[in-house]
Amino acid sequence: MQVKDKNFQIFIEAETIQKRIATLGKQIAEDYHGKRPLFIAILNGAFMFASDLLKSVSIDCEISFIKLASYEAMQSSGNVASLIGLKENIANRHIIIIEDIVDTGNTMQHVLPIFEAQRPASVEIASLLLKPEALSKPLALRYVGFEIPNKFVVGYGLDYDGLGRNLPEIYQLKE
Ligand code: IMP
Repeated sequence: MQVKDKNFQIFIEAETIQKRIATLGKQIAEDYHGKRPLFIAILNGAFMFASDLLKSVSIDCEISFIKLASYEAMQSSGNVASLIGLKENIANRHIIIIEDIVDTGNTMQHVLPIFEAQRPASVEIASLLLKPEALSKPLALRYVGFEIPNKFVVGYGLDYDGLGRNLPEIYQLKE
């Protein structure tokens, strides 16, 4: 599979992804029964995971979508990373952040304190993918779809230079 100028090989089949996500959704539904969780999906990468995950969460719940202001720009200006699009009042709510992949964990390390400052009842992370070898600091992830090696992947929401998000499978870069 060619995406832009690089070659990728199939890594996780669509059916395997769907089965794992259904299991995660059922687990979340059990854990959050009666709590009316608010899922907050991080765009763009998490759109496909969020959509499939929520189909298996058979309890009352809400979902909202946010974007992160690029924090390279933020760091150079010395400001804290900010969230774009969070309209809900999250005080006293049970929050589940939906992320496509946790790589170094830097994004989540920046984002978690922004949520926590608004005093939610709880905040947990659901990430489809985790690269444990790439994590720069320990990070508590409540729900992880697949732990994968520290190699670049595309598909199922994840992109390479804007391409590949539409693929129903996950592909790994061929060395
Ligand atoms: P972190 O801050 O290093 O944990 O990286 C998080 C973000 O980097 C993810 O939300 C993705 O947008 C992007 N990313 C990290 N690894 C990959 C990859 O293998 N493929 C595509 N995007 C990635």
